[in-house]
Amino acid sequence: MACIHCGTAPVLRRDTATARMLMICPECKARGDVALHEARARISWEIVNDDTLPRHGCRNGTYPRFVQASGAWGYGCKACGFAATGYATLEGAVAGWMRESRSSKT
Ligand SMILES: [Zn+2]
Ligand SMILES: [Zn+2]
Repeated sequence: MACIHCGTAPVLRRDTATARMLMICPECKARGDVALHEARARISWEIVNDDTLPRHGCRNGTYPRFVQASGAWGYGCKACGFAATGYATLEGAVAGWMRESRSSKT
């Protein structure tokens, strides 16, 4: 599944020291969850690159960009700079985006 943001094919990046891996877009650095198994890495990539995800409700709303920092997941809209964080899991952040994009549509 190509990157939702730029259409580039993702690569599977392995960290040989920790045996963990993730799918990442070599172009814009969109990424899935860090996983111990390739299946999870691929599934999480599909979750964040699902083109049925709602775009942000702002004027030029984009697909969400999911980011993981300091152990928490968050998301943002590149068009307006909106961002939120504090989700323990990627799935939690996706659910948060669903609520956010619904509530910001007027
Ligand atoms: Zn990309
Ligand atoms: Zn926006």
